[in-house]
Amino acid sequence: MRSPVVALALMLLNACAAPGPVPEAAAPAPLASDAEIDAAIAAPVTGFAADMRWNEPTAPFTVIGNIHYVGTQTVSAWLITTPEGHVLIDGIVPQSPPLILGNIRTLGFKPQDVKFLLNSHAHIDHAGGLAALQRATGAAMIASAADKPFLEAGDIGFGPTGGIKFPPVRVDRLIADGETVSLGGVTLTAHLTPGHSPGCTSWTLPVTGADGAAHTAFLHCSATVAGQKLVPESYPGMVADFRASFEKVRLIQADVFLANHDSFFGFKEKRERLLAGDANAFVDAAELQTFNTEMEEAFETRLAMEEDMAG
Ligand SMILES: [Zn+2]
Repeated sequence: MRSPVVALALMLLNACAAPGPVPEAAAPAPLASDAEIDAAIAAPVTGFAADMRWNEPTAPFTVIGNIHYVGTQTVSAWLITTPEGHVLIDGIVPQSPPLILGNIRTLGFKPQDVKFLLNSHAHIDHAGGLAALQRATGAAMIASAADKPFLEAGDIGFGPTGGIKFPPVRVDRLIADGETVSLGGVTLTAHLTPGHSPGCTSWTLPVTGADGAAHTAFLHCSATVAGQKLVPESYPGMVADFRASFEKVRLIQADVFLANHDSFFGFKEKRERLLAGDANAFVDAAELQTFNTEMEEAFETRLAMEEDMAG
């Protein structure tokens, strides 16, 4: 009988002498089971989500250039198309993926051509459908380090939606402030704008208008307090994060302002103008900064009120 050491040495020798075929890298395991995803899709939409019509269908359309709206009546999902595949931003609520995937097909694109999934932030109304979208597309999920734990837990863990579970989504790649996602000649730049969530991520990308003019789109993560607490902070550093994000956005120039809830960016009014023939309905050089200032004022008012109440 060989000693274990000799057996190990022979095994290693054999392994070196006769390498077998290199095994295919196994696809990384999903974090949510098919049953969990299917149950979440089939669950009734109730309460605030129903009142706010987060999962009501609406017709998809091209916003400008290669940016397409594939969201619901009141919550955005964006498809950025390129000749080499597409980028899909946000998954809305857990029930929304069939609507989003249907919208992508209606516009003539294929869900399986989505290569990257991005997320504005890890609240259920923007991250709830990501696991189902990852399953349907096979796309790599890219997210900030600070929101990754919430995406992979399927729960932001604090604030009004803390404890309300959504199917967890596997994050395949991290993105830091100023880093880019490139595909088919299109480059999106991440701007971390924390506060609303710790890893809140806004995006910019160049886009060409119908008239051939160059524009810059800014997809805003969100800057509302949204029922979270500033005193004491819902997460450590939240107030400083909000203030730094207002400063950061103040330096960004963009003339196509897009956000993830319809009320933030005059969505319905602009869509009406676009469909009536105004190809530049979503172009407004002042809107991002006007919005940022309004959000900052609302934030400071809210903070002062909470400080007063805390004595
Ligand atoms: Zn949110």
